[in-house]
Amino acid sequence: MSVHQLTIGDIECAVLQEGAAFMDRESVIARYPNVEPADVAAALGDSEPSGSLNLLYINSGGTRILADVGFGADGPAGMGGTLKGLAELRLSPAEIDIVFLTHFHSDHIAGFFTPAGEPVYGNAIFVTMQAEWDEWMGRWAASGAEADQENLARFKAQQDRFQFVSAGDEIAPGVTVVDLIGHTLGHAGLLVESGGERLLHVVDLLHQHFQFANIDWHFSFDTDSVQAVQTRRRVLQQCVDEEILTLFYHLDFPGLGKVTREGGAFVWNPTEFKS
Ligand SMILES: [Zn+2]
Repeated sequence: MSVHQLTIGDIECAVLQEGAAFMDRESVIARYPNVEPADVAAALGDSEPSGSLNLLYINSGGTRILADVGFGADGPAGMGGTLKGLAELRLSPAEIDIVFLTHFHSDHIAGFFTPAGEPVYGNAIFVTMQAEWDEWMGRWAASGAEADQENLARFKAQQDRFQFVSAGDEIAPGVTVVDLIGHTLGHAGLLVESGGERLLHVVDLLHQHFQFANIDWHFSFDTDSVQAVQTRRRVLQQCVDEEILTLFYHLDFPGLGKVTREGGAFVWNPTEFKS
């Protein structure tokens, strides 16, 4: 099953699984530069690494929002589930009103364009943080890689359709932008709030279960590792204090659950669903 539907008050939501098995064990173990690989391996234990890609779809009062777009139809094998998930919800990409880009890593944005370079979500406005746009336009401009130059040209061609938001901005009724900077310089999540219920999408605040107990481990894909640790500590503590339903992009599908704290360690409690 690649779609998990839920409601937050009056707001319809769904988690769409773009794909699973995104990272293998060896590459996970190599991605924590301030930790001995043996310690990462021990923290991982016998369990497989998390590798899901969980996208959040929101319908707030008829405004249809997709947070990130995954790899899309032409991504690696096993990816492309977002478009299938939308079809299961009887939606076409043309019916999405807002594409919210949490950050510009390829597992979140590669499905933004068709092979011809046209936006897949052709009627949507595109929303992201200004700092995120600035980081990637700069990084791609400085890169000689063909794929980066292509991204630079394609995104710049769509610049007029982008709306740049700040933390606290409401992009639709009950849907608010949340600051998660560190993983990238404009990494952002969404808080969905209606009828006394809340869902916090924290995207790439962390990538593996063992990071709950080791929040100061740097992750090689974090642009600002020190800021990322501070943000992890702050947001995970907020999740504990407010007992809020939380969504992680890369934890096992659907990536929903609650964070608790036992002594110095945060603990992930995935919501159990009947299959
Ligand atoms: Zn990611």
